[in-house]
Amino acid sequence: MNDGAPDDLLHDLTFSNFRKETFTLPVEVYLDSMEDLSAIARRLVEAGGKVKGSEALSMVREVYRIVDRVGKSVENFMSCRASCAACCRMMVGVTRGEGELLRERYRREPSGPVKDRWDPLLEARSNDLHSVSQTAPMADPDHPLSTLDDMLATCEAYEQLSVTCPFLGEDRLCQIYEERPLMCRICWTLTDPKDCDPGEGPPVKFRNGVFFRAFELVEMISHAGFGDGRRRPIPLWLTEE
Ligand code: SF4
Ligand code: SF4
Repeated sequence: MNDGAPDDLLHDLTFSNFRKETFTLPVEVYLDSMEDLSAIARRLVEAGGKVKGSEALSMVREVYRIVDRVGKSVENFMSCRASCAACCRMMVGVTRGEGELLRERYRREPSGPVKDRWDPLLEARSNDLHSVSQTAPMADPDHPLSTLDDMLATCEAYEQLSVTCPFLGEDRLCQIYEERPLMCRICWTLTDPKDCDPGEGPPVKFRNGVFFRAFELVEMISHAGFGDGRRRPIPLWLTEE
């Protein structure tokens, strides 16, 4: 139901995909999601910008649930499909709260073949990341790849390595799907999936206020819960402090 919504909002919520299908994200889904994200931001402000780590993690999970609701509404019109995983070769920037959830997920995985595969891959990808960090000036050379700017400066060089995320299974499915970070939840690609292949594209994404507010909010939550404003690639959260 989009009756009565202002034209500029409807314009922002309407998109066409590469199959020439047009869809409008239901205004009530958008407004409810924005309000739910704002409610989390208000809780942070009311708490004086400081919350327990456990509360921060439950807030990150709330953000995930909110963006997943938007994702569910638009999924049939997006190009993204299970096992379509070129994006899992990209450098995915993750905040501390999300990194903590990845660590929890790693610890929950019992010893066995899955973890035995993850460990060397996490080490290898961390080494790859440190190699590409040598190719551009880092904000803090002692702690490279800790800011969005560091990642923007090096993501193309990393993609050219064409290596996959350690959590991508041999079946091309994400092995930590329920705990995948925000950026993996809001891919929302409109163009041909082949545009996501390294050296192709760039892919066009469906971006809207929910995306931008969620992106900022996970950073605010990490500041409030852990006093940590870093944004780092996935493997570094699992191999370093
Ligand atoms: S972002 Fe691209 S590669 Fe990833 S699932 Fe979506 S269409 Fe496929
Ligand atoms: S966490 Fe999962 S979805 Fe995200 S890049 Fe890794 S394998 Fe892909």
